[in-house]
Amino acid sequence: MNEQKQRVFRKIDANGDQIIARSRRLFETPELGYREFETNRLIREQLDAWGVPYAPVSYTGLLVTLGQGAPVVAVLADMDGLPRRAGTGRIHSCGHSLQTSAALALIEALRDEPLQGTVKVIFTPAEEMIDLDYRQGLMDWGLVRYPSGKQDMIAGGVFDGVDCVLSCHASGEPHCRFDVGSILKGFVIFKTVYRGVGAHAGAAPYAGKNALHAALLAQTGVAFLKDRFNPQDGVNVQPVLSEAAGTVNIVPDHAVVETYVRARTQEALFAAADLVGTCLQRCGEAMDIQTEVTRRPGFLPLVQNQQINALVKENMLLLADEGDIRENLLSGASGDVGDLSALLPTIQFGFTGVSGRFHGDDFAIVDEANACLRPPKVLAGTVLDLFERPVSGREGFEARKAAYLKNWLGSSNA
Ligand SMILES: [Zn+2]
Ligand SMILES: [Zn+2]
Repeated sequence: MNEQKQRVFRKIDANGDQIIARSRRLFETPELGYREFETNRLIREQLDAWGVPYAPVSYTGLLVTLGQGAPVVAVLADMDGLPRRAGTGRIHSCGHSLQTSAALALIEALRDEPLQGTVKVIFTPAEEMIDLDYRQGLMDWGLVRYPSGKQDMIAGGVFDGVDCVLSCHASGEPHCRFDVGSILKGFVIFKTVYRGVGAHAGAAPYAGKNALHAALLAQTGVAFLKDRFNPQDGVNVQPVLSEAAGTVNIVPDHAVVETYVRARTQEALFAAADLVGTCLQRCGEAMDIQTEVTRRPGFLPLVQNQQINALVKENMLLLADEGDIRENLLSGASGDVGDLSALLPTIQFGFTGVSGRFHGDDFAIVDEANACLRPPKVLAGTVLDLFERPVSGREGFEARKAAYLKNWLGSSNA
């Protein structure tokens, strides 16, 4: 380990108590996406105290730039929490407060260091794809362009001129400290409205058209389609009947089927989404029911950059044994970091130290030494290594971004 990295790691250890105190404060301040106003204030308060300048990005996000010149490494930190399952209130049940905490610890450790490049630390809002009516309102007002924070930042030019992207996420993997190279699936969002004709179900059912029958046929059709998916592609489709007109003596005139289609690769995702979309449409038509399929982009699959992950693992090995590091796990989850991985060399590593279910009310941070202190070291160590051994995806970025905005984010028919 070189002298600078040793010094940076020592700073993080020396700041350990404050890092953990900040992390607890952030965990106790869960806010939904694009509503992270108090989290934003806490971050600014800390940056002001350090005299570190920042700029606003994507409504509730913040950008801190340290160092100068090439290479330019972006470090992402999600900020948003989730609603509690039971009753009211919110909770950081995806552990994003730990990412915000790690990013602050990284800034604190690097702010007085001589840097052979630029690190852009980006506090990123709205990772969870929820609360979409509120976000649509923000979009209608022109306050954000897209419902996901990273998609909004990509469109807003935050990653123009960036060479590569680092991020981390809490992991529930047992008996280890880290995971590296894990795959996140991508997903496409479908909502299908079936509109029939209501009629007296006893006196004149023949005068009606049953929308619920079309919805049920569509769900059956999608279930049969599952034979068409290669298990290697990890395609996952779980349609739900989210609305249905329901009175026993009236022919149902309205039903809504919603589903995500998930897959490991872009190719498999788009092929599966095309099949499912056609099935949802034609099953309605087969029943002579007016059918409207809405298809929207979710997130792309996360394709990890192996070159950067080799550096990430080297840094993990400074903090953990080989046996404490899991590699190339397949998660059924998705993240908007996947979209970035389609544009730039991108990685996301996992760190343990949490318990309970992700997105569940029993989620808790149980090993603060691992969850709060080791991730900023892995990030800092990898940033310093990337300054010496750069990995750049700048070439062709503009063309990839233009195609991404048109073909992916522009693919909504809503
Ligand atoms: Zn989550
Ligand atoms: Zn998450």
